[in-house]
Amino acid sequence: MFKLIQNFIIDLLFPICCLGCQQENKTKEYLCEKCFKKLVFCKRSYHFQLDFLDNIAIAGDYEDKILNQLITTLKFNAIKPIGNILAKFLCLFWQGRAILYPQKFIVIPIPLSETRERYRGFNQAEVIALYFANYFQYELNLQLKKIKNTKAQAELSEEKRLNNVKGIFQWKGENLSGKSIIIIDDVITTGSTINEAAKTLKLAGAKSIIALAIAKG
Ligand SMILES: [Zn+2]
Repeated sequence: MFKLIQNFIIDLLFPICCLGCQQENKTKEYLCEKCFKKLVFCKRSYHFQLDFLDNIAIAGDYEDKILNQLITTLKFNAIKPIGNILAKFLCLFWQGRAILYPQKFIVIPIPLSETRERYRGFNQAEVIALYFANYFQYELNLQLKKIKNTKAQAELSEEKRLNNVKGIFQWKGENLSGKSIIIIDDVITTGSTINEAAKTLKLAGAKSIIALAIAKG
């Protein structure tokens, strides 16, 4: 009973509004169904020169106001349920492509450093990867670890970004020989981080690696 009253008061004080249309919604979703349907898949094609990735797929467009709002709120306000909304969008995107790949993938999120994860309370890429892996019945694996802290990539030039990420990951899982991997991140910028992760996984034996992200920043 106490919990019920407590929830009632929290709802009263902090109603959950849709991040798209700002309407309060009774299902307590951060994005109402109507606004979710407005999210569109990315129509641009990007050119990345990344040696260790076999393919990069970007689901949405960062310029899309609603998608942008979801990504930034998840990251900076640490509202975990938004990860599931973005993951649902990623699943719809991947559904059209999954038929091209009969193999079972191992899904690996880009890890955060331990201190960063403790600060935020969760890793947003992991929240997305968990939902995604469940949806497609792929195996989720969290054995890719970030062993070095990095400066914020946004502040660096492209060349410095490459140096900044060198050796930051370590694979702590079993040998990956013959395995197909999907690495998941929320946003890919130049791709140097995800490429470094792919390098680590290829050195651990991975056969093929696809990078999958919500948007390109
Ligand atoms: Zn809405």
